[in-house]
Amino acid sequence: MRSELYIDGKWVSPVKGGTFDIINPATEEVIHKAAAAGADDVDLAVKAARRAFDTDGWPKLPGRERARYLRAIANGIRARQEEIVRLEVIDNGKPLPEADWDVTDAAGCFDFYADLAEQLDNNPEEPITLADARFTSKAVKEPIGVAGAIIPWNYPLLMAAWKVAPALAAGCTVVLKPAELTSLTALELAAVADEAKLPAGVLNIVTGAGSVAGQAIIDHKGVDKLAFTGSGPVGSKIMAAAARDIKRVSLELGGKSPFVVFDDADIEKAVEWIMFGIFWNQGQVCSATSRVLVQERIYDNLMARLVEETKKITIGNGLDDGVLLGPLVSKRQYEQVLAAIEAARAAGATVAYGGQRPEGFEKGYYLQPTILTDVPLESDAWREEIFGPVVCVRPFSTEEEAIELANDSRYGLAAAVMSQDDVRAERVAAAFRAGIVWINCSQPTFTEAPWGGYKESGIGRELGRWGLENYLETKQITKYVSEDPW
Ligand code: NAD
Repeated sequence: MRSELYIDGKWVSPVKGGTFDIINPATEEVIHKAAAAGADDVDLAVKAARRAFDTDGWPKLPGRERARYLRAIANGIRARQEEIVRLEVIDNGKPLPEADWDVTDAAGCFDFYADLAEQLDNNPEEPITLADARFTSKAVKEPIGVAGAIIPWNYPLLMAAWKVAPALAAGCTVVLKPAELTSLTALELAAVADEAKLPAGVLNIVTGAGSVAGQAIIDHKGVDKLAFTGSGPVGSKIMAAAARDIKRVSLELGGKSPFVVFDDADIEKAVEWIMFGIFWNQGQVCSATSRVLVQERIYDNLMARLVEETKKITIGNGLDDGVLLGPLVSKRQYEQVLAAIEAARAAGATVAYGGQRPEGFEKGYYLQPTILTDVPLESDAWREEIFGPVVCVRPFSTEEEAIELANDSRYGLAAAVMSQDDVRAERVAAAFRAGIVWINCSQPTFTEAPWGGYKESGIGRELGRWGLENYLETKQITKYVSEDPW
């Protein structure tokens, strides 16, 4: 475990010193002390990133050269996968197979953007046909500059990969701040990049508090682009900071995503996807399908099977075999989710299952997987993101009603529909006001496909070629080619 900041290709202590505790949410033990970066450290990191961008030549390298570094990082992650997976489990709490999946995906993300970096070489410019033949014109793509990336704690390494890989592929340089709750694997990413001999300053990783190190990144004049995943209130602050200096900005915020199950759906499959959609990663997933709408005819049967299967979920330390639900990430998150359940009860909701700390756990931020019914439509439980293993289930009668309920939210990150009638499923998918729509499934996420939200769920798209576009500017170059005088 690393205790320093990674700035300009070197491991350094914070200028003013200072550390913060890293706590294992399964045991509540302090397992490490990480370096708390201040504004001075962020300034050094941004200056290093500026130099790497402005004078050292990272954006001028051919895409295929940058791709070589990206592939070396992907291989470096895989080479120490077991160690990184373990760190992710003791830092975040998630079950080990989930962490293994995330780390595999993170490595794959670097490989994917290596391919896209190479493709930039193949299509360096796009000719433009002008109505005025006295001119020729073309559009070229260029990297934006220094990217400040601020990420959350639910997918620590994967969120780092989603931002760092496309930024480096595009030719940007990066200052990354991981969430203070989960800093360990981002530091390992720095170690991997260092071993891959990534030029100094291209990737800088500063650990520390959001209100200090994060704020210093978003306020820094040397940063050209802000990329953020996390809560809505911090997203608003970041957009406001970006507005001051007209920084480019992409935001991936929360959601309260619906899952509509029609009565021709296979109940067993529906139960499986509902559980995956809300209990995976302890429900700490921005796209979690936390509002389940079930057509009346199958509602009772589906609820009975959902409760039956939910009871079987093995809760425990993510390092233990067979565990499906680990602890929540922190004491604060645990208390917030419990409080949200209590507020739901007070508003009139029924706890069909769960809602408490499971028996037999003295330490750790463990919470039962929780199913709420009779949740009032105007209550916070129905409208606000809980960000825990808590699902609201509600019956509906007609397709129109389901669509109206599904879209009645200030969020629009994801939505899912299940039906054996493909025409209906496609029709409902088209009617959802959400950036990510799943048919007959919930949550599968692919590096190749765009990721991001409508409405208050964010701005911009990550992943796929859209993720690369996030870090590119478009330049028009127009030439006067006529012999005629202007
Ligand atoms: P947060 O938004 O406070 O933190 C996310 C990141 O932003 C962290 O790295 C944090 O240090 C940083 N940050 C905080 N204040 C900042 C500031 N003023 N300037 C710059 N950076 C700052 O989220 P959280 O406290 O970790 O979680 C709170 C809630 O956010 C959760 O309950 C959940 O609803 C939501 N959340 C959403 C996602 C997602 O994937 N969309 C992920 C994690 C949390």
